[in-house]
Amino acid sequence: MKPIVIIGAGMAGFTVARELRKLDKEIPLVILTSDAGGFYSKPMLSNAFAQNKHAAQLITQSAEQMAAQLNATILAATHVQGVDTASRSIAIDGTAIEYEKLVLAVGAQPIRLAIDGDGADQVQSVNHVSDYARFRDLVALPKHGTSARVTILGAGLIGCEFADDLRGAGHAVTLVDPSALPLAALAAPALSRGLLAALTARGIVLHLSTTATRIDRQGENLQVTLANGVTFDTDIILSAVGLRPDLSIATQAGLATGRGILIDASGQTSAADVYAVGDCAEYIVDAQGGTRILPYIAPLMTAARAIARTLTGTPTTIDIKDAPVIVKTPSYPIALVPPPLQAQAGGAWRDEEVDGRTICRFYDAAGILAGFCVAPQDAAIRSALMAALGSAAVATTPSVAATTATAAASTAG
Ligand SMILES: Cc1cc2nc3c(=O)[nH]c(=O)nc-3n(C[C@H](O)[C@H](O)[C@H](O)COP(=O)(O)OP(=O)(O)OC[C@H]3O[C@@H](n4cnc5c(N)ncnc54)[C@H](O)[C@@H]3O)c2cc1C
Repeated sequence: MKPIVIIGAGMAGFTVARELRKLDKEIPLVILTSDAGGFYSKPMLSNAFAQNKHAAQLITQSAEQMAAQLNATILAATHVQGVDTASRSIAIDGTAIEYEKLVLAVGAQPIRLAIDGDGADQVQSVNHVSDYARFRDLVALPKHGTSARVTILGAGLIGCEFADDLRGAGHAVTLVDPSALPLAALAAPALSRGLLAALTARGIVLHLSTTATRIDRQGENLQVTLANGVTFDTDIILSAVGLRPDLSIATQAGLATGRGILIDASGQTSAADVYAVGDCAEYIVDAQGGTRILPYIAPLMTAARAIARTLTGTPTTIDIKDAPVIVKTPSYPIALVPPPLQAQAGGAWRDEEVDGRTICRFYDAAGILAGFCVAPQDAAIRSALMAALGSAAVATTPSVAATTATAAASTAG
């Protein structure tokens, strides 16, 4: 019997494998991955400096342990060059592996910025535990002493998390972003302002409404030139400007793609018995067939569960639900559900201060709660706000009850 093959040993690939094994302990399973095949929780990467964690400490199970646990063959350090969906075979270094069913869980690749200067090739990015190992070694070079100067390009979710984490570990951090506020694409302006104040109070320098145009080597230093004319020296530059779904295998195999690999409601790509999940996939997110990439853990877990059921003979629809994004910035922890694009026209944020907490609710044009942000975030308030999504006024905890009622009244007025 040909195996089910999963390409990718990130959280998406391993979650499909785990869910599959809950349903079928024996079906042959092969996992192919270009990395070392160990399991780690990727969100830990942007929280590991302050905890003084080495890359090896983040890998909780080796490839061998995962293979034993999953009753699977894991071929690590194995880069897949292509897939032939007609013959159901996978090309690896001149050999071919046949599959019965295939899951693409190949993740995303960091976006590379076009920056001038002979230091532009020094820009780092951290999207895998091996990147973290390399970056950590650079930060720890003896010439930097106990405090390296780290410049982060991009003050989105990952950039802000790394900034707070590195600062927490005692490093000198500079953040650069084209927006006027950090986390501008995700958070309500009031919370972006709160985050800006918290990061600044922490000692992080922010250059906003500008971009890095040049990076030049100056002896031991890297000199950064911004579009607004400011120049400064730094030791290390980390790009956190975003990720792009890895479409290389999908494109070679002739699968339908948009921003990501397009999948139907059950996770199947345009080829029979080929599925995609995780950062590489573009999911159907509403009843009208709207699609979005969802580069977060919660959707990949939901999708992996459904795909595992489908793979084992029970066709199952992926039921993507709203899940809060937790911004792991200890100096100003935020939880948020960004309003969907279609809800944004005619809608508005309404901000409130409750018990030292800022709660921002986004009401769409019809006065329906379509998104929220809260900081400092708290599990009970987050749950209450989640429960209130989609309604004009729902009260589930005392403090949220008061604010929800006030916000709804002001919306009605
Ligand atoms: C620093 C950081 C912090 C984050 N924090 C959060 C958070 O707090 N909450 C949250 O919800 N999300 C967070 N995310 C996002 C979340 O971690 C990702 O959505 C998720 O881990 C993606 O998993 P994946 O398996 O799809 O991709 P990946 O982890 O990228 O795995 C892709 C796998 O495919 C393999 N591969 C790729 N191409 C090939 C090939 N040709 N041949 C063989 N193997 C191949 C790779 O080796 C790898 O094993 C964070 C992301 C980062 C970078």
